[in-house]
Amino acid sequence: MSEIKAPKGTRDIFAPEIDTWRFLENAIHTYYRKFLFQEIRTPIFEHSELFRRGIGDETEVVQKEMYTFRDKSDRSLTLRPENTASVVRAAIESNFFETMTPLRFYYIGPMFRYDKPQKGRFRQFHQYGVEIFADETPQVDAEVIFSAVDFLKKLEIADLQLDLNSVGCPQCRPPYLHVLRQAARAHETELCSDCRRKIDANPLRIFDCKKPPCEAVAGRLPLLSDHLCGECRNHFAAVREALSWMNVPFRLNPRLVRGLDYYTKTAFEITSGQLGAQNALLGGGRYDNLIRDLGGPDMVGIGFAAGMERIILHLGHLQAQPLRVLFVAYGDPRWLAHAVQLAQVLREEGFPVLLDFQGKSLKKQFKKADRSAAAFTLVLAEDEIRSGTVSIKDMARQEQVNIPLKELNAWLKKNY
Ligand code: AMP
Repeated sequence: MSEIKAPKGTRDIFAPEIDTWRFLENAIHTYYRKFLFQEIRTPIFEHSELFRRGIGDETEVVQKEMYTFRDKSDRSLTLRPENTASVVRAAIESNFFETMTPLRFYYIGPMFRYDKPQKGRFRQFHQYGVEIFADETPQVDAEVIFSAVDFLKKLEIADLQLDLNSVGCPQCRPPYLHVLRQAARAHETELCSDCRRKIDANPLRIFDCKKPPCEAVAGRLPLLSDHLCGECRNHFAAVREALSWMNVPFRLNPRLVRGLDYYTKTAFEITSGQLGAQNALLGGGRYDNLIRDLGGPDMVGIGFAAGMERIILHLGHLQAQPLRVLFVAYGDPRWLAHAVQLAQVLREEGFPVLLDFQGKSLKKQFKKADRSAAAFTLVLAEDEIRSGTVSIKDMARQEQVNIPLKELNAWLKKNY
């Protein structure tokens, strides 16, 4: 029979890398609770309509990357490609907007996109992210951005670049889009067929295209930063000022539009100089209309999502120490019960203990202890059982001692 492999773009995570994941997850829980964020876990799949309405019909994510399927009742469901729309949906559904303060959430979990797999780009990948609702102040934008940068710095990730832009609002965007469409039409023949279609549908998305001719055209198109309304300009200036109070350096990038349609005003991205092509670690921004667009109250929001696989690539230096295993061996099946009970006592004390139930001979058990990289093998054989002792072999030094069982705990405290 042919072998069944993991689907393309997915990967198994196991030791020792899994320790780095657990370290990162713990660090996220600890860090974001300092800012009063509450963890939220939403379903892995949602009604497809949520993402079409939330992320935008014309985005790459919705057009090309969603894992959408029909269930047995013919509902259209989608594996979540991102989590902001789900968190907003959950907050509306649970009436958090009326019952909770502050409205601050963070999440950790898998996302799914039918992307072209490559280093740092998967079809199932993991994001952590934060969302703050109902706070329109520019200072909260700066606080979210500060937390994003500060957390990565605390993980000792070097070579970070923060890009910042304002993508405007429903007042200034339509007149700008008119100007943008006209300019893009003048270069229509130089654009790829996708981008030609975007001129009418959603011309901002031309800035997302990575094809060199389209990038060249994008470099000459008018910029939203030159067409912001007074409110967006003031908001953006205040965000930059607050970032300077917080000592967060940034680069203004007027072509940063982000791949999801819901953003308004502040948009930002953090890249790493050490990642190659897929260098974006994290991206986010303000979404002042999403909550209303998804059927909630007229309340604003801001957040970001970070790619955990890409952060893990930077955390190789944090590999956990290998476990120092205690292997309990027994000289005869008659002593198995004693061995089981000794293992129980040791685990109760907090030691990692391995016991081989198939143990045929002491020699074979020692071989297993060796292969399990045991630090010590504790032997219970006829002599030990009769004298109430245990023999302990230091596997690295190949030295053995025999001590009374009741002194084992003290011995381990000294020698483990
Ligand atoms: P986005 O939700 O598109 O704003 O992406 C936020 C972050 O998630 C990016 O900066 C990446 O670090 C990460 N990310 C997005 N798509 C993928 C993917 N297909 N594979 C791995 N990481 C991804």
